[in-house]
Amino acid sequence: MHLFKWHGQLILLNFLMFMSWRPCRGLNVPNYGPDNRGNPARRTASFAGRREPVFYDEEYQPLAARTPSQDVRRAKLAAISNPDFYFPPDPEADLAEANIPVPVVTQQKPRQAAPGAGAFSYNPKDKNGPPNWYRIDERCGGRYQSPILLNTSSAQLVSRKRPLRLDGQTNLPDSIRLQNDGHSAKFTHSWRIGADRPVLRGGPLKTKYLFEQLHFHWGSNSSVGSEHVYDYQRYPMEIHLVFYNGLYDSFQEAREQVDGIAVMGLFYEIYEHSVDEPLNTWTRFLRNVIEPNSEFTIPFIDTFPLYEVIGDVEWPYFSYEGSLTTPPCLETVTWIVATKPLLVTEKEMRQFRRLQSPNGQMSNNFRPVQKLNHRRVFLY
Ligand SMILES: [Zn+2]
Repeated sequence: MHLFKWHGQLILLNFLMFMSWRPCRGLNVPNYGPDNRGNPARRTASFAGRREPVFYDEEYQPLAARTPSQDVRRAKLAAISNPDFYFPPDPEADLAEANIPVPVVTQQKPRQAAPGAGAFSYNPKDKNGPPNWYRIDERCGGRYQSPILLNTSSAQLVSRKRPLRLDGQTNLPDSIRLQNDGHSAKFTHSWRIGADRPVLRGGPLKTKYLFEQLHFHWGSNSSVGSEHVYDYQRYPMEIHLVFYNGLYDSFQEAREQVDGIAVMGLFYEIYEHSVDEPLNTWTRFLRNVIEPNSEFTIPFIDTFPLYEVIGDVEWPYFSYEGSLTTPPCLETVTWIVATKPLLVTEKEMRQFRRLQSPNGQMSNNFRPVQKLNHRRVFLY
């Protein structure tokens, strides 16, 4: 009898639970599927989830309109596992490919023939020139590439902004490694372990970004040189200060992550007046790396802090999500481009133009502007 009473109560309990569960099936439960954009844990190495819908016209059209065959080529590249692979130049095959969709290419050059990212050039007519960078690394054919046109009139003004801060700007490194890597002049500061390395934060950045290196892009004359174009103007030179997210252990690790890199870009304009003292004393080191793939170590006694290169970080700036401007063109860069140019003399520009690349004078080492696509540019 006692057992039966328990049994009856259990049946009643089950019935009540069933009734209370049933109405829930019709409720509109939020979908926490892969489309959930609010959950940062679900962010992947793609900007797709971070983009706002486009609401203004794209003002830039590339010189060569993208044809469907380029998508076919990119699909083929994706099918090839070796990231260093590139297609050997074959104009006839390219011509045929433009008309006929070709199945996945199986012919591969031996490994030693693949030049890797080091072989790109800035000559648009070259087989490794900017229009063909996507053959060196397919990511160069992505939709969120840099540089771009930066226009005051179409930028979104950010009213509630956190100040952008560069801490440790006056810190001195132990030494500075200056490299002519065949594409640019690159200064990599070495810091004491865990100390002194300058940190960029605030503005559009959610975390701290640690300084890695700085390098330049310049023209063969002062009418060109910068990578970004500000209100339809190119400047004779642009400096890039490369930072990586402190959440990651190294620049190499960070650059593959969606929030891995921040690059601060500043334009240079020519200081027309005569000067007794050089404006940028550090340009004197360039004469030590004239030859391509040469390097020079600036000893501690001659090192200089970031402050000596860029001064105060107190200018309005553009910010947008883009890419590295050289292969592999990873789309993991938060760009911060200052609207206030730095100054350089023609004499200092000549120091840059004396540098040699594997193909002769190193100059015009800037990438053509890329399509904006579904991106917004913010003005802070
Ligand atoms: Zn650069």
